[in-house]
Amino acid sequence: PADGRFSYGKRILEELGEQFDLPELFEALRTPGKRLCARVNLLRGSPEEVLEELERTGYEPETPYPYEELVCVRVEGPFEVPLTDAVVVADKRAAESVLMGADLYAPGLLEAKGVKAGEPVTVLAEKTLEPVGFGRALFEGEPPRRGKVVETVVTKFKAPKFRELKSFEKGLIYPQSAPAVAAVRALEPEGLVVDMNAAPGGKAFHAYELLRGKGKVIAFDISKKRISKMMEEMRRLGHSFEVVRADSRYLDLDFPHLVGKADRVIVDPPCTAIGVIPKVWDVKKDEDMINAFEYQKQFVKVAYKLLKKGGLMLYSTCTLTKTENERVVEFAEEMGFEVVEKDTPWGKTPVKVSPSVHGEPGFFIAILKKK
Ligand code: SAM
Repeated sequence: PADGRFSYGKRILEELGEQFDLPELFEALRTPGKRLCARVNLLRGSPEEVLEELERTGYEPETPYPYEELVCVRVEGPFEVPLTDAVVVADKRAAESVLMGADLYAPGLLEAKGVKAGEPVTVLAEKTLEPVGFGRALFEGEPPRRGKVVETVVTKFKAPKFRELKSFEKGLIYPQSAPAVAAVRALEPEGLVVDMNAAPGGKAFHAYELLRGKGKVIAFDISKKRISKMMEEMRRLGHSFEVVRADSRYLDLDFPHLVGKADRVIVDPPCTAIGVIPKVWDVKKDEDMINAFEYQKQFVKVAYKLLKKGGLMLYSTCTLTKTENERVVEFAEEMGFEVVEKDTPWGKTPVKVSPSVHGEPGFFIAILKKK
């Protein structure tokens, strides 16, 4: 273990240590980025409309990136979270939401001690028992199995609640990080865009919007649950394109009519997700990284087959290891891809965005051209 909260394998630590100051990185992984952003659905409305609603709601929106569709709000904090005698322990996921300003819901509650309905209570993160929020308990005795259990008043950080805006309900915005938006911008979608790891749809929706009806998106994903979430989002945004449940490692065999036809391919595969912030704790073994690497290469191989000559692949991950990023790019080069330099706010691709260096979620963006 590098730090009580982060238990990473030896090779993972070596790779992170070669690139970053580890204490600084671990500190940054515990905190959200400087701001939270949402992408405006330009097919449905204008950034001005969203900025206006944000201001009306009491936020001070910012547009610090060179993308008209991206609007952001600063995350406030850290605040001191009061510690009371009554405590509840929240699981990792729920604790990370509470840390950002959410209320606590029943499925995330693991344990309760001394809780009285209507009385103050502190929410602790499982394992580390770090206070992430303070508020009012909404139950007493046996915790309920559903619904809100703690209404928070003070949380470690306070992030904008994009999902509560009218703009969200109207399909005008899609909450998304700046690096994810930069990734699809760097790809410059055109013609036929195949997304091989599409759900819940952030990048595919963005590509569809940038095409403005002048191209086509076909999105694949293996997860039924994530595809159903994507379909719900698609309805909210008012988009319409093909979403198919398939194992993308075999698209060339199962969808032979797509071979050599794609102008753009998005490969955004599962990864160790070390860049996803904020984290209350994390455990990753070297084996997780190696398995992810082996899996990631299979998508790259198929992407090569689907692309036209001269077509571009976006390879992106939300992790920081070299194995899952730089080494996958080397593999792509060995098979006939060529690295393309595209501008991003953090330098030219291939680029790695890091929480400790850039104050953004950790992210890797590479653009590769089929020679
Ligand atoms: N691109 C998405 C976005 O921007 O919202 C996020 C994709 S997420 C990082 C990786 C996705 O890969 C998951 O939705 C997962 O279900 C999918 N996946 C994993 N294995 C797959 C496979 N063999 N074929 C297709 N999709 C797969």
